[in-house]
Amino acid sequence: MTPPLIEARGLVKRYGTMDALRGASLRLHPGEILAVSGPSGSGKSTLLHCLSGIVRPDEGEVLYGDERLDQAGETRRTTLRRTDFGIVFQFGQLVGELTALDNVALPLLLAGTSRAAAHAGAREWLERFGVAGHAALRPGELSGGQAQRVALARAMVTGPRAVFADEPTGALDSLAGEQVMTALVHAAREAGTAVLLVTHDAQVAAYADREATVRDGAVEGEPAQVLR
Ligand code: ADP
Ligand code: MG
Repeated sequence: MTPPLIEARGLVKRYGTMDALRGASLRLHPGEILAVSGPSGSGKSTLLHCLSGIVRPDEGEVLYGDERLDQAGETRRTTLRRTDFGIVFQFGQLVGELTALDNVALPLLLAGTSRAAAHAGAREWLERFGVAGHAALRPGELSGGQAQRVALARAMVTGPRAVFADEPTGALDSLAGEQVMTALVHAAREAGTAVLLVTHDAQVAAYADREATVRDGAVEGEPAQVLR
């Protein structure tokens, strides 16, 4: 079997006296679509933040290939989030002052792509997600479903190895949610991008190759382990 793209081993993350993660372990394989569900407050978002390098766990390891992401500095993790990972949140993640096109072009511009090439790439991804007609609009002028499709385009535009999506349909009605999910899964499969999808919607989990459940800061079926 191919080695995992990203692996978390025995993650512990504390916020004050609250243990958000208590020995969580999870593997995300290349090209795999993994749905992570579990009760509210169980640690799903914290796990996603650790795997994607947004936060560093207090204990445990996050391996990205041979690289220890949990030990990587802020600069390296920021670079990885721009080049290798795409991240989609429930809402509020687009830059309000920028048009849809500029929002999607932004990761390419930050990576040093020329303005013309960044806009061409952005337009292509807006087209794939069916929102090219809204390229000149700002996030406030888009519906929730349209804004999420723009956010997906922004997450995919750099050709990431993995997309992390934290309840991307959580604020949408069921039809818009289904359109967003279908678009994400289709695009990810076509591009061979792995997806870690946090959701508490059973319907959404049905799009995944595999499901994992988080409970009390650990992943079920993966023994809670604390590394020393
Ligand atoms: P989920 O995404 O499953 O709802 P979270 O990972 O957001 O769970 O949160 C797990 C626990 O950690 C919750 O009790 C939450 O209140 C706490 N927590 C998460 N992030 C923070 C934070 N930045 N500061 C303080 N507590 C936090
Ligand atoms: Mg959450």
